[in-house]
Amino acid sequence: MWLTFARLLPVVVLDARGAPLPAPLSFWQTVAAFELRMSITRHQTRSAPDSPASAGAPKVHVVTFGCQMNKYDSELVEGRFRRRGYATTESMDDADVLLFNTCSVRDHAEERTWSWVGELKRAKERRPDLVIGIMGCMAQRVEEEVFKRAGHVDLVAGTRQFQNLPHMVDQVRERRAAQGATQATSRLVATETSDDVHVDRTDVPFEGGSHAYLAVMRGCDLSCTYCIVPTTRGRVRSRNLEDLLREVRWMVAGGVRVITLLGQTVNSYGEDFDPPTGDESRGTGRQGRPSLADLLRHLQEVEGLARIRLITLHPSYVTRAFAEAIRDCDKVERFLPLPAQAGSDAILRGMKRGYNLDLYRRRADILREIVPDIELGSDWIVGFPGEEEADFQGTLDFLEEQQFLVNYVFKYDPRPGTHADERLANSVSDAIKKERNQRLLAAAERVQRGRCERVVGQDVPAWLERVSERDPGLLLGRTLSGMPVSCPGPTDWVNSQRIVRLDTATPFGVAGFDVPAPA
Ligand code: SF4
Repeated sequence: MWLTFARLLPVVVLDARGAPLPAPLSFWQTVAAFELRMSITRHQTRSAPDSPASAGAPKVHVVTFGCQMNKYDSELVEGRFRRRGYATTESMDDADVLLFNTCSVRDHAEERTWSWVGELKRAKERRPDLVIGIMGCMAQRVEEEVFKRAGHVDLVAGTRQFQNLPHMVDQVRERRAAQGATQATSRLVATETSDDVHVDRTDVPFEGGSHAYLAVMRGCDLSCTYCIVPTTRGRVRSRNLEDLLREVRWMVAGGVRVITLLGQTVNSYGEDFDPPTGDESRGTGRQGRPSLADLLRHLQEVEGLARIRLITLHPSYVTRAFAEAIRDCDKVERFLPLPAQAGSDAILRGMKRGYNLDLYRRRADILREIVPDIELGSDWIVGFPGEEEADFQGTLDFLEEQQFLVNYVFKYDPRPGTHADERLANSVSDAIKKERNQRLLAAAERVQRGRCERVVGQDVPAWLERVSERDPGLLLGRTLSGMPVSCPGPTDWVNSQRIVRLDTATPFGVAGFDVPAPA
């Protein structure tokens, strides 16, 4: 769920359409907003650089809601359209094809999509040639229902269909051209989830900047009772290790220095492969399957790649081999989002998370024993069906015990189509959810501050990623342990590692100044 949830501190103020408002942010809010930007803001297509080839080309614009996986998928969709001769445009008014890559994890995320799509009704009346499509998790969940609520939409593409989108757009146009065609007869829906997603895009240059996402797997084979992902994203499909390495080398050749490996349970990478037989090489996964540990060791060897991040992990798939790979690979950040969700065995059973607190502790202990500087982050759901005050107290205690560096806190929000919505009474009142939410946020802030204060006075390697929008003399980045960090410096330090002596801590990050690296 890390992939889809927002950071606990609401420092990015969104307008009614979800756009960040230009509220004055403090220095520390700027640091926190830097982290947030990847998780809760909507993303929109940027225009491709003008080129003679793109002059007069049809234009596509993608609006992306939700998680990093969606952002990655949108980049792939844009690539598919570029290959078909389209140009990307940042103006919705210029677009011939408008796509919404949607999120279903919370009601709020879907409502934002409906609101955006609803506003396009008049645009479609003015420009009947426009093709409007809905893709992603909401498309997968509601399928044809989209047309009932927004009759001006032309196509619906599920989570494993986006590679077909340019072809679907062609089909919509062909249908429109048929005699007697109407909006209703031109529509198209494709929501099959058995299709593998073909993502090879290495025949065109990478243009995504210095940070890139890489989906190493798709789908989820678990069945947490509150979660819609197994329905919307289908069963796990890991990608072939050689394909991933080829894609990473291509990204690095295009300027990428940091990659984030994505998966709903990214450390279960490879579990769905067949075990090797005969002379086939053996990995460190179950029965010799390739595992995330093997992938990390290969990525460590990719010249030019500086940092590797991981989102999101599941405690059940933490192994010693995985921890040893982190220890041995200095490009892998020592921060793992390892959601606990609750600090009560009864609630974890109700959630069908597949572990109890004891198992979580044992897996966290393996990580800390082998990688002493590891930091963990967690998602939390408060007010899950049946949660009593004693269960919630367990959550507060577990947060304190495990000392999570980053915490994402959510009030339980039943999602249609989930086991919890259909079978479990939403028994905790909104008032109690709200109150527990506040208490957990306060506790998280205390713990986070403590984690950050612990490193004040230390010299730490920090990867500097961008110039602060508020203060051009300030650079923002992350320590190797995943803490947001700020440091004054010239812009040519962006995309480099510096040693930063930390002198300030807040609950949301650290600050310091550059010191010469030891000879
Ligand atoms: S592990 Fe559970 S919460 Fe995460 S995506 Fe799978 S079913 Fe959803």
